[in-house]
Amino acid sequence: MAANSEVKGVAASAAGRRDPAVRAAVEQGLVGAADGAEPLVCLLDVAGIRASAAALTGAFAAALAPGTPVLHAFAVKAAPLVPVLRLLADAGLGCEVASPGELALARAAGVPADRTVLDSPAKTPAELREALALGIAVNADNPQELARLDGLVGRAATPPAAPIGLRINPQTGAGAIDALSTATATSKFGIALRDPGARAWLVRAYLDRPWLTRLHIHSGSQGVPLALIAEGVRELHALAEEINAAAGRRQVDTLDIGGGLPVNFASDEETPTFARYVAALREAVPALFDGSYGLVTEFGRSLLAKHGLVLARVEYTKTSGSRSIALTHAGVQVATRTAYAPAAWPVRILPYDAKGAPKTGDPVAQDIAGPACFAGDLLATARELPRLAPGDLIGVPDTGAYFFTAHYGYNSLPRPAVHGFTVTESGEVRFRLVRPAQDVSAIVAEAGGDLRDALL
Ligand SMILES: *Cc1c(COP(=O)(O)O)cnc(C)c1O
Repeated sequence: MAANSEVKGVAASAAGRRDPAVRAAVEQGLVGAADGAEPLVCLLDVAGIRASAAALTGAFAAALAPGTPVLHAFAVKAAPLVPVLRLLADAGLGCEVASPGELALARAAGVPADRTVLDSPAKTPAELREALALGIAVNADNPQELARLDGLVGRAATPPAAPIGLRINPQTGAGAIDALSTATATSKFGIALRDPGARAWLVRAYLDRPWLTRLHIHSGSQGVPLALIAEGVRELHALAEEINAAAGRRQVDTLDIGGGLPVNFASDEETPTFARYVAALREAVPALFDGSYGLVTEFGRSLLAKHGLVLARVEYTKTSGSRSIALTHAGVQVATRTAYAPAAWPVRILPYDAKGAPKTGDPVAQDIAGPACFAGDLLATARELPRLAPGDLIGVPDTGAYFFTAHYGYNSLPRPAVHGFTVTESGEVRFRLVRPAQDVSAIVAEAGGDLRDALL
Protein backbone atom coordinates (compact mmCIF):
# COMPACT_ATOMS: atom_id res chain seq x y z
CA MET A 1 0.00 0.00 0.00
CA ALA A 2 2.75 2.37 0.99
CA ALA A 3 4.63 1.74 -2.25
CA ASN A 4 1.45 2.34 -4.21
CA SER A 5 0.67 5.69 -2.61
CA GLU A 6 4.29 6.70 -3.13
CA VAL A 7 3.94 6.01 -6.84
CA LYS A 8 0.72 7.99 -6.83
CA GLY A 9 2.49 10.87 -5.10
CA VAL A 10 5.31 10.81 -7.63
CA ALA A 11 2.92 10.60 -10.58
CA ALA A 12 1.06 13.61 -9.21
CA SER A 13 3.97 15.97 -9.89
CA ALA A 14 5.34 16.82 -13.31
CA ALA A 15 8.94 16.29 -12.21
CA GLY A 16 7.92 12.98 -10.62
CA ARG A 17 6.43 11.74 -13.88
CA ARG A 18 9.46 12.68 -15.97
CA ASP A 19 12.06 10.13 -14.82
CA PRO A 20 9.67 7.13 -15.06
CA ALA A 21 8.72 8.34 -18.56
CA VAL A 22 12.38 8.54 -19.63
CA ARG A 23 13.11 5.05 -18.34
CA ALA A 24 9.98 3.69 -20.01
CA ALA A 25 10.85 5.40 -23.30
CA VAL A 26 14.15 3.48 -23.30
CA GLU A 27 12.61 0.21 -22.12
CA GLN A 28 9.83 0.40 -24.70
CA GLY A 29 12.31 1.15 -27.48
CA LEU A 30 11.21 4.69 -28.38
CA VAL A 31 14.77 5.97 -28.10
CA GLY A 32 18.10 4.39 -27.24
CA ALA A 33 21.62 3.36 -27.93
CA ALA A 34 20.98 0.02 -29.62
CA ASP A 35 21.93 -0.16 -33.28
CA GLY A 36 18.95 1.00 -35.31
CA ALA A 37 17.19 2.62 -32.32
CA GLU A 38 15.89 6.16 -32.70
CA PRO A 39 18.47 8.70 -31.51
CA LEU A 40 15.91 11.41 -30.76
CA VAL A 41 12.35 11.47 -29.47
CA CYS A 42 10.01 14.07 -27.99
CA LEU A 43 7.60 13.42 -25.13
CA LEU A 44 4.49 15.28 -23.98
CA ASP A 45 3.09 14.89 -20.46
CA VAL A 46 -0.67 14.58 -20.98
CA ALA A 47 -1.53 15.04 -17.28
CA GLY A 48 0.63 18.16 -17.16
CA ILE A 49 -1.13 19.67 -20.19
CA ARG A 50 -4.52 18.94 -18.63
CA ALA A 51 -3.38 20.49 -15.35
CA SER A 52 -2.27 23.70 -17.08
CA ALA A 53 -5.54 23.93 -19.03
CA ALA A 54 -7.47 23.49 -15.77
CA ALA A 55 -5.31 26.09 -14.03
CA LEU A 56 -6.07 28.59 -16.82
CA THR A 57 -9.82 28.02 -16.96
CA GLY A 58 -10.03 27.85 -13.16
CA ALA A 59 -8.12 31.08 -12.57
CA PHE A 60 -10.38 33.12 -14.85
CA ALA A 61 -13.59 31.38 -13.74
CA ALA A 62 -12.78 32.23 -10.12
CA ALA A 63 -12.41 35.93 -10.95
CA LEU A 64 -15.15 36.51 -13.55
CA ALA A 65 -18.71 37.51 -12.73
CA PRO A 66 -20.86 34.36 -13.09
CA GLY A 67 -22.18 33.81 -16.60
CA THR A 68 -19.57 35.98 -18.35
CA PRO A 69 -18.74 34.46 -21.75
CA VAL A 70 -15.08 33.46 -21.96
CA LEU A 71 -13.12 31.63 -24.65
CA HIS A 72 -9.59 30.44 -23.95
CA ALA A 73 -8.16 30.04 -27.46
CA PHE A 74 -4.87 28.13 -27.50
CA ALA A 75 -2.27 29.84 -29.73
CA VAL A 76 -1.75 27.01 -32.23
CA LYS A 77 1.72 28.16 -33.26
CA ALA A 78 3.03 27.11 -29.83
CA ALA A 79 2.24 23.42 -30.49
CA PRO A 80 0.71 22.81 -33.92
CA LEU A 81 -0.15 19.14 -33.34
CA VAL A 82 -3.69 17.94 -34.02
CA PRO A 83 -3.89 15.52 -31.03
CA VAL A 84 -2.72 18.34 -28.73
CA LEU A 85 -5.41 20.69 -30.07
CA ARG A 86 -7.94 17.89 -29.58
CA LEU A 87 -6.78 17.31 -26.00
CA LEU A 88 -7.06 21.02 -25.24
CA ALA A 89 -10.50 21.17 -26.86
CA ASP A 90 -11.52 18.28 -24.59
CA ALA A 91 -10.26 20.39 -21.68
CA GLY A 92 -12.54 23.26 -22.79
CA LEU A 93 -10.19 25.37 -24.91
CA GLY A 94 -10.53 26.73 -28.46
CA CYS A 95 -7.83 27.75 -30.96
CA GLU A 96 -6.13 30.98 -32.01
CA VAL A 97 -4.83 30.56 -35.57
CA ALA A 98 -2.63 32.77 -37.72
CA SER A 99 -2.28 30.99 -41.06
CA PRO A 100 -4.27 28.72 -43.37
CA GLY A 101 -2.20 25.80 -42.05
CA GLU A 102 -3.04 26.52 -38.43
CA LEU A 103 -6.72 26.95 -39.30
CA ALA A 104 -6.66 23.58 -41.07
CA LEU A 105 -5.09 21.98 -37.99
CA ALA A 106 -7.75 23.44 -35.69
CA ARG A 107 -10.48 22.18 -38.02
CA ALA A 108 -8.82 18.75 -38.24
CA ALA A 109 -8.90 18.65 -34.44
CA GLY A 110 -12.64 19.29 -34.57
CA VAL A 111 -12.48 22.75 -33.00
CA PRO A 112 -15.69 24.54 -34.05
CA ALA A 113 -15.63 27.88 -35.88
CA ASP A 114 -17.19 29.71 -32.95
CA ARG A 115 -14.27 28.61 -30.75
CA THR A 116 -11.63 29.75 -33.25
CA VAL A 117 -9.98 33.16 -33.61
CA LEU A 118 -7.96 34.31 -36.65
CA ASP A 119 -5.19 36.81 -35.96
CA SER A 120 -2.39 36.88 -38.51
CA PRO A 121 -0.90 40.24 -39.53
CA ALA A 122 -0.98 39.44 -43.28
CA LYS A 123 -4.29 37.77 -44.06
CA THR A 124 -5.12 37.49 -47.77
CA PRO A 125 -8.56 38.38 -49.16
CA ALA A 126 -9.22 34.63 -49.59
CA GLU A 127 -8.41 33.96 -45.92
CA LEU A 128 -10.71 36.76 -44.78
CA ARG A 129 -13.53 35.52 -47.04
CA GLU A 130 -13.14 31.99 -45.70
CA ALA A 131 -13.09 33.10 -42.07
CA LEU A 132 -16.24 35.20 -42.51
CA ALA A 133 -17.99 32.38 -44.37
CA LEU A 134 -17.11 29.90 -41.61
CA GLY A 135 -18.05 32.31 -38.80
CA ILE A 136 -14.55 32.48 -37.34
CA ALA A 137 -13.71 35.53 -35.24
CA VAL A 138 -11.31 37.87 -37.04
CA ASN A 139 -9.04 40.48 -35.52
CA ALA A 140 -7.93 42.96 -38.16
CA ASP A 141 -4.38 44.23 -37.87
CA ASN A 142 -4.43 47.56 -39.70
CA PRO A 143 -6.57 50.11 -41.60
CA GLN A 144 -5.95 48.48 -44.98
CA GLU A 145 -7.22 45.16 -43.68
CA LEU A 146 -10.25 46.94 -42.22
CA ALA A 147 -10.93 48.41 -45.68
CA ARG A 148 -10.88 44.89 -47.12
CA LEU A 149 -13.37 43.80 -44.48
CA ASP A 150 -15.55 46.81 -45.39
CA GLY A 151 -15.69 45.41 -48.91
CA LEU A 152 -16.57 41.90 -47.75
CA VAL A 153 -19.05 42.87 -45.03
CA GLY A 154 -20.58 45.69 -47.08
CA ARG A 155 -21.49 43.30 -49.91
CA ALA A 156 -23.18 40.81 -47.58
CA ALA A 157 -26.97 40.95 -47.22
CA THR A 158 -26.84 40.42 -43.45
CA PRO A 159 -24.32 41.43 -40.81
CA PRO A 160 -21.47 38.93 -40.46
CA ALA A 161 -21.98 36.02 -38.06
CA ALA A 162 -18.27 36.16 -37.36
CA PRO A 163 -17.29 38.60 -34.62
CA ILE A 164 -14.79 41.15 -35.90
CA GLY A 165 -12.34 43.25 -33.93
CA LEU A 166 -9.24 45.38 -34.32
CA ARG A 167 -5.85 44.69 -32.82
CA ILE A 168 -4.27 47.59 -31.03
CA ASN A 169 -0.68 48.07 -29.96
CA PRO A 170 -0.73 49.87 -26.60
CA GLN A 171 2.93 50.91 -27.11
CA THR A 172 3.59 50.05 -23.48
CA GLY A 173 7.17 49.05 -24.19
CA ALA A 174 9.53 46.13 -24.65
CA GLY A 175 10.37 43.17 -22.44
CA ALA A 176 13.72 41.44 -22.11
CA ILE A 177 13.68 39.83 -25.59
CA ASP A 178 13.38 42.29 -28.48
CA ALA A 179 12.28 39.70 -31.05
CA LEU A 180 9.29 38.82 -28.86
CA SER A 181 8.24 42.30 -27.76
CA THR A 182 4.96 43.04 -29.53
CA ALA A 183 4.07 46.32 -27.82
CA THR A 184 6.99 48.62 -28.53
CA ALA A 185 6.45 52.12 -29.95
CA THR A 186 7.27 50.79 -33.43
CA SER A 187 5.97 47.19 -33.25
CA LYS A 188 4.75 45.63 -36.51
CA PHE A 189 1.50 44.52 -34.86
CA GLY A 190 -1.85 46.23 -34.69
CA ILE A 191 -2.82 49.89 -34.68
CA ALA A 192 -0.42 52.00 -32.63
CA LEU A 193 -2.70 53.52 -29.99
CA ARG A 194 -0.46 56.39 -28.94
CA ASP A 195 0.42 57.60 -32.43
CA PRO A 196 -0.97 61.10 -33.15
CA GLY A 197 -4.65 60.90 -34.07
CA ALA A 198 -4.86 57.13 -33.64
CA ARG A 199 -7.32 57.14 -30.77
CA ALA A 200 -9.80 59.43 -32.48
CA TRP A 201 -9.45 57.44 -35.70
CA LEU A 202 -10.19 54.22 -33.82
CA VAL A 203 -13.32 55.58 -32.14
CA ARG A 204 -14.59 56.85 -35.52
CA ALA A 205 -13.78 53.51 -37.15
CA TYR A 206 -16.06 51.76 -34.65
CA LEU A 207 -18.86 54.32 -34.88
CA ASP A 208 -18.85 53.91 -38.67
CA ARG A 209 -19.00 50.09 -38.45
CA PRO A 210 -21.67 48.69 -36.12
CA TRP A 211 -20.29 45.20 -36.85
CA LEU A 212 -16.98 45.94 -35.13
CA THR A 213 -17.64 44.43 -31.71
CA ARG A 214 -14.27 43.39 -30.36
CA LEU A 215 -10.93 44.82 -29.38
CA HIS A 216 -7.75 42.75 -29.40
CA ILE A 217 -4.33 43.04 -27.83
CA HIS A 218 -1.41 40.64 -27.43
CA SER A 219 1.29 42.58 -25.65
CA GLY A 220 3.01 39.92 -23.58
CA SER A 221 5.50 37.20 -24.35
CA GLN A 222 8.56 35.54 -22.90
CA GLY A 223 10.53 38.26 -21.13
CA VAL A 224 7.62 40.70 -20.67
CA PRO A 225 6.77 41.48 -17.00
CA LEU A 226 3.19 40.85 -15.85
CA ALA A 227 2.68 44.49 -14.86
CA LEU A 228 3.46 45.60 -18.42
CA ILE A 229 1.04 43.04 -19.91
CA ALA A 230 -1.65 44.16 -17.45
CA GLU A 231 -1.03 47.81 -18.39
CA GLY A 232 -1.74 46.93 -22.02
CA VAL A 233 -5.02 45.27 -21.05
CA ARG A 234 -5.94 48.36 -19.01
CA GLU A 235 -5.41 50.50 -22.14
CA LEU A 236 -7.61 48.10 -24.12
CA HIS A 237 -10.40 48.28 -21.56
CA ALA A 238 -10.24 52.09 -21.41
CA LEU A 239 -10.49 52.30 -25.20
CA ALA A 240 -13.51 49.97 -25.22
CA GLU A 241 -15.21 52.17 -22.62
CA GLU A 242 -14.45 55.27 -24.69
CA ILE A 243 -15.87 53.70 -27.87
CA ASN A 244 -19.00 52.47 -26.07
CA ALA A 245 -19.56 55.88 -24.50
CA ALA A 246 -19.26 57.54 -27.93
CA ALA A 247 -21.59 54.95 -29.46
CA GLY A 248 -24.13 55.31 -26.65
CA ARG A 249 -24.43 51.52 -26.47
CA ARG A 250 -22.26 48.53 -25.61
CA GLN A 251 -20.98 48.11 -29.16
CA VAL A 252 -17.71 46.54 -28.03
CA ASP A 253 -18.91 43.48 -26.18
CA THR A 254 -15.76 41.32 -26.05
CA LEU A 255 -12.13 41.98 -25.18
CA ASP A 256 -9.50 39.63 -26.57
CA ILE A 257 -6.55 40.04 -24.21
CA GLY A 258 -4.11 37.78 -26.07
CA GLY A 259 -1.60 35.46 -24.43
CA GLY A 260 2.01 35.97 -23.53
CA LEU A 261 2.37 34.67 -19.99
CA PRO A 262 6.12 34.02 -19.58
CA VAL A 263 7.47 30.61 -18.60
CA ASN A 264 10.20 29.69 -16.11
CA PHE A 265 12.94 27.80 -17.97
CA ALA A 266 15.29 27.70 -14.96
CA SER A 267 13.61 25.04 -12.81
CA ASP A 268 10.58 22.77 -12.57
CA GLU A 269 8.64 25.46 -10.76
CA GLU A 270 5.68 26.74 -12.78
CA THR A 271 5.84 30.46 -12.31
CA PRO A 272 4.23 32.90 -12.82
CA THR A 273 0.95 31.00 -12.52
CA PHE A 274 -2.30 31.83 -14.31
CA ALA A 275 -3.72 32.74 -10.89
CA ARG A 276 -0.90 35.24 -10.39
CA TYR A 277 -1.63 36.75 -13.82
CA VAL A 278 -5.33 37.04 -13.06
CA ALA A 279 -4.42 38.74 -9.78
CA ALA A 280 -2.23 41.24 -11.69
CA LEU A 281 -5.11 41.92 -14.09
CA ARG A 282 -7.57 42.39 -11.22
CA GLU A 283 -5.27 44.89 -9.66
CA ALA A 284 -4.64 46.85 -12.88
CA VAL A 285 -8.16 46.58 -14.39
CA PRO A 286 -10.72 45.52 -11.76
CA ALA A 287 -13.62 46.22 -14.16
CA LEU A 288 -12.32 43.63 -16.61
CA PHE A 289 -13.98 40.90 -14.57
CA ASP A 290 -17.32 42.57 -13.78
CA GLY A 291 -19.16 40.82 -16.60
CA SER A 292 -19.66 43.86 -18.84
CA TYR A 293 -17.32 42.33 -21.43
CA GLY A 294 -16.91 38.78 -22.64
CA LEU A 295 -13.28 37.67 -22.66
CA VAL A 296 -11.04 35.85 -25.09
CA THR A 297 -7.53 34.74 -24.14
CA GLU A 298 -4.80 33.35 -26.42
CA PHE A 299 -2.18 31.57 -24.32
CA GLY A 300 0.41 29.34 -25.98
CA ARG A 301 3.77 28.88 -24.25
CA SER A 302 2.39 28.91 -20.70
CA LEU A 303 0.02 26.01 -21.49
CA LEU A 304 2.52 23.67 -23.16
CA ALA A 305 6.17 24.55 -22.48
CA LYS A 306 6.60 22.75 -19.17
CA HIS A 307 5.07 19.55 -20.52
CA GLY A 308 7.48 18.77 -23.37
CA LEU A 309 10.77 16.89 -23.12
CA VAL A 310 13.36 16.24 -25.82
CA LEU A 311 15.33 13.03 -25.28
CA ALA A 312 18.47 12.62 -27.35
CA ARG A 313 21.27 10.11 -27.51
CA VAL A 314 24.84 11.19 -26.92
CA GLU A 315 26.54 9.82 -30.03
CA TYR A 316 30.14 10.81 -29.27
CA THR A 317 32.14 12.73 -26.71
CA LYS A 318 35.40 14.53 -27.42
CA THR A 319 37.68 17.33 -26.36
CA SER A 320 38.75 20.19 -28.56
CA GLY A 321 41.37 22.52 -27.16
CA SER A 322 40.29 22.87 -23.56
CA ARG A 323 36.66 22.16 -24.38
CA SER A 324 34.71 18.98 -23.49
CA ILE A 325 31.97 18.38 -26.02
CA ALA A 326 29.10 15.90 -26.10
CA LEU A 327 27.78 15.43 -29.64
CA THR A 328 24.05 14.68 -29.40
CA HIS A 329 21.10 14.42 -31.77
CA ALA A 330 19.24 17.42 -30.34
CA GLY A 331 20.25 20.78 -31.74
CA VAL A 332 19.00 23.59 -33.91
CA GLN A 333 16.24 21.46 -35.50
CA VAL A 334 14.39 21.19 -32.17
CA ALA A 335 15.76 24.22 -30.29
CA THR A 336 16.17 26.82 -33.00
CA ARG A 337 15.97 29.88 -30.78
CA THR A 338 18.42 28.41 -28.28
CA ALA A 339 20.98 27.78 -31.03
CA TYR A 340 20.67 31.24 -32.59
CA ALA A 341 19.97 33.32 -29.46
CA PRO A 342 21.43 31.29 -26.56
CA ALA A 343 21.40 34.15 -24.06
CA ALA A 344 17.66 34.71 -24.48
CA TRP A 345 16.69 31.03 -24.60
CA PRO A 346 18.77 28.99 -22.13
CA VAL A 347 17.58 25.41 -21.60
CA ARG A 348 18.23 22.92 -18.82
CA ILE A 349 20.06 19.70 -19.67
CA LEU A 350 19.15 16.60 -17.64
CA PRO A 351 21.65 13.73 -17.86
CA TYR A 352 20.49 10.10 -18.10
CA ASP A 353 22.44 6.89 -18.59
CA ALA A 354 21.86 4.45 -21.44
CA LYS A 355 19.13 2.69 -19.44
CA GLY A 356 17.27 5.94 -18.91
CA ALA A 357 18.19 6.33 -15.24
CA PRO A 358 19.24 9.76 -13.97
CA LYS A 359 23.01 9.97 -14.27
CA THR A 360 25.03 10.99 -11.25
CA GLY A 361 28.69 11.80 -10.81
CA ASP A 362 31.01 14.71 -10.23
CA PRO A 363 30.11 17.68 -12.40
CA VAL A 364 32.38 18.53 -15.31
CA ALA A 365 31.91 21.51 -17.63
CA GLN A 366 30.71 20.20 -21.00
CA ASP A 367 29.32 21.72 -24.16
CA ILE A 368 26.14 20.04 -25.40
CA ALA A 369 26.23 20.13 -29.18
CA GLY A 370 23.63 19.22 -31.78
CA PRO A 371 23.99 17.29 -35.03
CA ALA A 372 23.88 20.23 -37.46
CA CYS A 373 26.87 21.41 -39.49
CA PHE A 374 27.48 24.87 -38.09
CA ALA A 375 29.49 25.87 -35.06
CA GLY A 376 26.63 27.55 -33.24
CA ASP A 377 24.56 24.37 -33.05
CA LEU A 378 24.82 24.14 -29.25
CA LEU A 379 22.20 23.63 -26.55
CA ALA A 380 24.53 24.62 -23.71
CA THR A 381 28.13 25.67 -23.19
CA ALA A 382 30.37 24.81 -20.23
CA ARG A 383 27.41 23.18 -18.48
CA GLU A 384 28.36 21.40 -15.24
CA LEU A 385 27.08 17.82 -15.62
CA PRO A 386 28.25 14.32 -14.77
CA ARG A 387 30.73 13.27 -17.46
CA LEU A 388 28.59 12.10 -20.41
CA ALA A 389 29.50 9.02 -22.44
CA PRO A 390 28.36 7.65 -25.80
CA GLY A 391 24.99 5.97 -25.44
CA ASP A 392 23.86 8.21 -22.58
CA LEU A 393 20.79 10.36 -23.08
CA ILE A 394 20.20 14.01 -22.43
CA GLY A 395 16.77 15.33 -21.57
CA VAL A 396 15.81 18.89 -22.49
CA PRO A 397 12.76 19.85 -20.42
CA ASP A 398 10.36 22.77 -20.91
CA THR A 399 10.34 22.20 -24.68
CA GLY A 400 6.61 21.60 -25.21
CA ALA A 401 6.05 24.97 -26.93
CA TYR A 402 7.96 26.50 -29.86
CA PHE A 403 10.79 23.93 -29.65
CA PHE A 404 10.23 20.54 -31.32
CA THR A 405 6.79 21.69 -32.38
CA ALA A 406 8.43 24.41 -34.50
CA HIS A 407 10.84 22.17 -36.41
CA TYR A 408 13.64 23.77 -38.39
CA GLY A 409 14.73 21.73 -41.39
CA TYR A 410 18.45 22.60 -41.42
CA ASN A 411 20.70 19.86 -42.87
CA SER A 412 17.51 18.03 -43.89
CA LEU A 413 17.27 16.79 -40.31
CA PRO A 414 13.97 14.92 -39.91
CA ARG A 415 11.15 15.89 -37.60
CA PRO A 416 11.41 13.51 -34.64
CA ALA A 417 8.49 11.46 -33.35
CA VAL A 418 6.34 12.98 -30.60
CA HIS A 419 4.69 10.68 -28.06
CA GLY A 420 2.24 11.69 -25.37
CA PHE A 421 2.54 9.80 -22.11
CA THR A 422 0.44 9.08 -19.05
CA VAL A 423 1.48 7.39 -15.81
CA THR A 424 -1.10 5.05 -14.27
CA GLU A 425 -1.70 4.85 -10.54
CA SER A 426 0.45 1.72 -10.38
CA GLY A 427 3.32 3.61 -12.03
CA GLU A 428 2.99 2.14 -15.51
CA VAL A 429 3.93 4.58 -18.29
CA ARG A 430 1.76 4.47 -21.41
CA PHE A 431 2.76 6.17 -24.64
CA ARG A 432 0.55 7.33 -27.52
CA LEU A 433 2.03 8.44 -30.83
CA VAL A 434 1.17 12.10 -31.50
CA ARG A 435 3.37 12.70 -34.56
CA PRO A 436 5.37 10.03 -36.39
CA ALA A 437 9.06 10.54 -37.07
CA GLN A 438 9.63 11.92 -40.55
CA ASP A 439 11.35 9.33 -42.72
CA VAL A 440 13.90 10.13 -45.40
CA SER A 441 11.46 9.43 -48.24
CA ALA A 442 9.26 12.25 -46.91
CA ILE A 443 12.29 14.53 -46.83
CA VAL A 444 13.07 13.66 -50.46
CA ALA A 445 9.45 14.27 -51.48
CA GLU A 446 9.38 17.66 -49.73
CA ALA A 447 12.60 18.57 -51.49
CA GLY A 448 11.13 18.14 -54.97
CA GLY A 449 11.97 14.45 -55.29
CA ASP A 450 9.20 13.95 -57.83
CA LEU A 451 10.44 16.91 -59.89
CA ARG A 452 13.94 15.63 -60.44
CA ASP A 453 14.25 16.75 -64.06
CA ALA A 454 12.50 20.10 -63.60
CA LEU A 455 15.61 22.19 -64.23
CA LEU A 456 17.19 20.23 -67.08
C1 LIG B 1 2.03 34.08 -30.37
C2 LIG B 1 0.72 34.70 -30.05
C3 LIG B 1 0.01 34.30 -28.91
C4 LIG B 1 0.57 33.32 -27.90
O1 LIG B 1 1.70 33.81 -27.25
P1 LIG B 1 2.35 33.00 -26.03
O2 LIG B 1 3.51 33.83 -25.63
O3 LIG B 1 2.75 31.67 -26.58
O4 LIG B 1 1.32 32.86 -24.96
C5 LIG B 1 -1.24 34.84 -28.71
N1 LIG B 1 -1.77 35.75 -29.56
C6 LIG B 1 -1.11 36.17 -30.65
C7 LIG B 1 -1.74 37.16 -31.53
C8 LIG B 1 0.16 35.67 -30.93
O5 LIG B 1 0.83 36.09 -32.02
